[in-house]
Amino acid sequence: MATTTEPESHVQSKLETVPHWIDGKPYTEHVVRWGDVMNPATGERSARVAFATNDVVHAAVQSATRAQQKWRNASLAQRTRVMFAFRQLVEKHKQEMAQILTREHGKVLSDALGEVSRGLEVVEFACGIPQLLKGEFSENVSTEVDSFSIRQPLGVVAGITPFNFPAMVPMWMYPLAIACGNAFILKPSEKDPSAANFSAQLLHEAGLPEGVFSVVHGDKVAVDAILNNPGIAAVSFVGSTIVARYIYETGTRNGKRVQALGGAKNHMVVLPDADLDLAADSAVSAGYGSAGERCMAISVLVAVGDAADRLLPKLKERIAKLKVAPGSEPGAEMGPLVTKDHHARVLSYVEKGQAQGAELAVDGRGLRVPGHDKGFFLGPCLFDRVKPDMTIYQDEIFGPVLSVVRASTYDEALALVNANRYANGVAIFTNDGGAARRFQNEVQVGMVGINVPIPVPMAYYSFGGWKSSLFGDSHVHGREGVHFYTRGKVVTSRWPDPQHRGVNLGFPQMK
Ligand code: NAD
Repeated sequence: MATTTEPESHVQSKLETVPHWIDGKPYTEHVVRWGDVMNPATGERSARVAFATNDVVHAAVQSATRAQQKWRNASLAQRTRVMFAFRQLVEKHKQEMAQILTREHGKVLSDALGEVSRGLEVVEFACGIPQLLKGEFSENVSTEVDSFSIRQPLGVVAGITPFNFPAMVPMWMYPLAIACGNAFILKPSEKDPSAANFSAQLLHEAGLPEGVFSVVHGDKVAVDAILNNPGIAAVSFVGSTIVARYIYETGTRNGKRVQALGGAKNHMVVLPDADLDLAADSAVSAGYGSAGERCMAISVLVAVGDAADRLLPKLKERIAKLKVAPGSEPGAEMGPLVTKDHHARVLSYVEKGQAQGAELAVDGRGLRVPGHDKGFFLGPCLFDRVKPDMTIYQDEIFGPVLSVVRASTYDEALALVNANRYANGVAIFTNDGGAARRFQNEVQVGMVGINVPIPVPMAYYSFGGWKSSLFGDSHVHGREGVHFYTRGKVVTSRWPDPQHRGVNLGFPQMK
């Protein structure tokens, strides 16, 4: 077996290490590559994370396969007990989990706590697995013949997740996958990997048998090893559209079931009759919360008629009051961006927006956070008079940059939303019930908010967008999640065995 390669430099050896998690324990065999995990508020390295090779993924799949053969027959009572115990443990260690998120992602502590709570909702949903897996039964479909349907687990399934919700997005997947009787291998983002290991420890403490939940860290090498491993039956992915498409195409070509959720460009349409104070509060919260690094963030505000002229001062007034600071600082409302590269990318969009003629109504580039000069901070930026052909409108920026597009009519606003290649979330703000109802019917987007800026469904509904925001047929969690992680079987039984009536080569007919 290959031995672990220790980091060469003295500095690295002092860093915290994030190993893989296989067979119910930390795993560092076969590790030949490590990645840096940064603290975005200080700009310094906070840990090093193991990067998986093919061998590591192979070891995880072997362990998971062994474990799943037993776990698939664990009683529903046992699976439920594990989920309840896990729920209690996450609740108990919520603060610790949130601190990990703030340290590695940068989001403010209150937001990190909110993330953990939203993830827990899926765990709570998974606690109801006996109800969710109930099949149908028909007595006497023919004389003395009964039929019933059951849903069975797929086997070993994997989840590949993005940096922006390191606790919640994996929780969209593994609680249900495990409760359905699968073994789950998580490949979290290499940018903020520690929450995955923390979850693994808590699942272990909750009594989950070894090997039912594993974590392999890394980059494309780990992802490709997952996509090419024949022992993995299904892959859930959440991340950017370009990678989602790749995962969907490669995974399905290899015979796997795949759901791949991609990027977003979420619009908020504000009609002139809307409560503009509510709209301004909502746009600022949904545009700049988590520094715009949310798949459901509002990045385009479509102001209809004279709404823009009346909204702009309200937006500016609110933006000026936002407290941008390290996420661990009390009262901080917006933290830094996740990495230096991402910070540079978002800055380049602000420059492009100006160069292409949009009006920079609020420029966050001058922001300085005392004592954190090396942190990846960018103040909130607001563009007005953005046109649909501009790059800042076309691309997902994933930063604290909100674009105002002016539209003359409701129809123009609707056409704009429906022409966009992304279709994750959308919101309309109005006091006209008829207009809202028409919008919910006509808009071609997966998740719709009416006077609600971030319409993330509860765990018992399913989450997912349309068009380039989702590849595959199933949304995550809710009933579609249960369907994704199981397959149906219908049994037709004659019991007790009836009298033998001789050979009959005709097609079986029910009498
Ligand atoms: P990303 O696509 O860069 O990475 C996601 C995962 O894919 C990570 O685990 C990463 O290691 C892996 N990966 C990255 N490049 C890869 C490659 N070339 N080949 C194979 N694997 C690769 O996404 P991100 O930057 O971590 O997250 C932000 C993106 O995620 C945004 O586009 C955001 O909209 C999207 N997102 C979407 C949703 C949704 O529900 N639709 C939710 C959260 C985030």
